[in-house]
Amino acid sequence: AKHNGRNCFRFFTQKIAETLHERQRIEKGLRNALTQELFSLVYMPIFDCKDNTVVAVEVLLRCQSPELEGHGPDQFIPVAEATGLIKEIDLWVIKNALQALVILQTEHHFRGKICINISGVELHNEQFPAQVKSLLSHHKIAPENVELEVTETAFVAGDTTCLGTLRALDELGVSLALDDFGTGYTAFTQLIHYPADCLKIDRSFVNDLFSEREARNKMVMFIQNLAKLYELRVIAEGVETEAQLTYLRDLGCDWAQGYYLSRPLPWDDLLELLNA
Ligand code: C2E
Ligand code: CA
Ligand code: CA
Ligand code: CA
Repeated sequence: AKHNGRNCFRFFTQKIAETLHERQRIEKGLRNALTQELFSLVYMPIFDCKDNTVVAVEVLLRCQSPELEGHGPDQFIPVAEATGLIKEIDLWVIKNALQALVILQTEHHFRGKICINISGVELHNEQFPAQVKSLLSHHKIAPENVELEVTETAFVAGDTTCLGTLRALDELGVSLALDDFGTGYTAFTQLIHYPADCLKIDRSFVNDLFSEREARNKMVMFIQNLAKLYELRVIAEGVETEAQLTYLRDLGCDWAQGYYLSRPLPWDDLLELLNA
């Protein structure tokens, strides 16, 4: 038993060392990406459920650093947040997303919104609203064409800094979406205090729509009703089948995105879709 115990211990320390090493590698990859322009964006179209037109485009971050080979934002964003690199990365994303929107508007008659994910870290960054404001005016973009997505878990009930940042962003005129909605622990009664415009139903609930697990397949209906009550727009993410889309449309869901409608697209493919 003693022998086993020691092996077990060695196994775990080795695992921790590997994890630390991996994190350092990711951090290095992120730093290189910032200095060597190894970040890029892909574009996921968002469709109006009623007429299937593209009403918005969500930008998603990709990284070409060799250290990050095979890692998506789900793996590298948490490292960026832990190391503080996220602030620079979020600004890079916003700047490039706005540049893309200018081209879509001026050369491709696009009238929809650009949807940009920002880290919850920014809700505690008092400079953030001013940074967004200056990027908007630099690119001469009307704020109503920009939606910022923050995950619901970033909202700390009763946190005044957090609320102050959200109000400042709202005053700029950009719209605010609560991402991954339903996965956090927001007291639903707190919703009224947030200047949110949109709820994004988390992919996991759309996935469970026709599942046997009663409690979960009712979440979509619950969120839809909640949104109606608070007059919020609803975007369903992760729509992978026609049945899901039909169900969501009949329920009154406004917008939808997911592999059934379109994958996240490289720039040229986005243009092809918009010009079709
Ligand atoms: P998210 O904001 O919930 O983005 C949706 C994720 O689900 C994307 O993964 C997208 O590719 C994927 N997805 C969309 N539709 C479907 C579908 O029908 N089926 C399946 N299986 N997946 C679908 P991605 O690009 O790997 O992004 C993961 C997360 O990383 C995002 O989740 C977001 O929280 C974060 N993220 C992505 N880009 C950025 C960024 O520019 N800045 C920040 N701060 N976070 C970002
Ligand atoms: Ca998102
Ligand atoms: Ca608003
Ligand atoms: Ca999600």
